Amino acid sequence: MSVRLELPGDDDPRRQAIRAWLAAHPSPSGRELAEGGWVVPHWPRPYGHDADPVFQLIVDDELAKAGVRRPENPIGIGWAAPTILLAGTPEQRERYLLPALAGEEVWCQLFSEPDAGSDLASLRTRAVADGEGWVVSGRKIWTSGAQHAQFGILLARTDPDAPRHQGITYFICPMTSPGITVRPIVDMTGLALFNEVTLDEVHLGPELVVGRPGDGWRLAKLTLANERVSLSSGGVLWGRGPTVGDLVDQVRASGGVAGPARDRLVRAWADGQVLEQLRLRLLAARMAGQAPGPEASVQKLAADRHGQAVLRLAKDLEGPAGTVAEGDPVWQHGFLFSPALTIGGGTAEVQRNVIGERVLGLPRDPEA
Ligand SMILES: Cc1cc2nc3c(=O)[nH]c(=O)nc-3n(C[C@H](O)[C@H](O)[C@H](O)COP(=O)(O)OP(=O)(O)OC[C@H]3O[C@@H](n4cnc5c(N)ncnc54)[C@H](O)[C@@H]3O)c2cc1C
Repeated sequence: MSVRLELPGDDDPRRQAIRAWLAAHPSPSGRELAEGGWVVPHWPRPYGHDADPVFQLIVDDELAKAGVRRPENPIGIGWAAPTILLAGTPEQRERYLLPALAGEEVWCQLFSEPDAGSDLASLRTRAVADGEGWVVSGRKIWTSGAQHAQFGILLARTDPDAPRHQGITYFICPMTSPGITVRPIVDMTGLALFNEVTLDEVHLGPELVVGRPGDGWRLAKLTLANERVSLSSGGVLWGRGPTVGDLVDQVRASGGVAGPARDRLVRAWADGQVLEQLRLRLLAARMAGQAPGPEASVQKLAADRHGQAVLRLAKDLEGPAGTVAEGDPVWQHGFLFSPALTIGGGTAEVQRNVIGERVLGLPRDPEA
């Protein structure tokens, strides 16, 4: 049975409220969207509207219909700002939240280190108290967008004698601080999407600690739980980018395809249909007020694999047959980025371990 989403119609007062706002702000700036509470409608006022999942979907729907896009600042809006909202001081909230939500100040995430990725709690970057604040030294890696960011959220070890999940502190790190070196890493897409960041005796004042010293691990996990419900999805690059339907359209427009490639195309389309039903089911559950269940972990695993299959197929259909134009930048970039799908945001192996233990109730894998 297919799942469909029924959103309230034109006469819903929430729909009318955002339409009235859009009529008054036909081409809103990031700042106007942030001040209007439309960037994070699920947040409390004054930043949001305390929106439940249905209201969030209505806002997405109306913004999409009006052709209005929210500011691009994924780490700032998705990670840094919710943590500062929950655990920051009033001064931190006043200083950082609106510029982040408006996309005026871009943030990066200084968590992973050369020897601390999946096992993040083994991070070694040290922050030592010097009476006036903290002196931070260490090396971070795979920091997306660090070369463009004004601030980073930084995890550093402040108490090396504490058990490893304790003794970690969550800092706001101004990226222009003396002692910070950002070295862009060109990956195989040809772009420098992420960076190596070295911190050499970087001084961070006490006002840059979020929450209590030693509470960084709890805060990092808390941020991850801050989920917004979104209508937009379907793209094979973590919900963005082209879809399997786009590939089918291109193949159809170029006269079709035969043989094994046709089988792969149909199979990928069928998998895409299953994933779409799963996505809608998750959305419907959220609209009914239910917490995300095991479907969420299953969806990440399946969607990343599906993305890799679609992008591989698009690549295979390039070339002499010209089914998909050779070097089409969308597919080309997607294909070259696709190995990252099963690494970033938690590797597929780690996801499978999580499902094995928490969903299937298997004993911990002694080899993991
Ligand atoms: C596109 C992209 C953007 C990123 N952006 C950022 C960013 O902005 N900020 C940031 O801090 N980090 C970022 N990362 C880093 C990302 O969080 C890490 O790559 C990820 O957590 C994996 O860590 P690792 O690379 O150190 O691999 P490792 O943890 O060293 O893993 C190596 C291999 O061992 C496997 N493995 C590890 N532990 C287990 C286990 N317990 N059971 C089974 N298998 C295991 C893994 O699955 C993997 O195959 C980004 C990564 C990518 C790909």
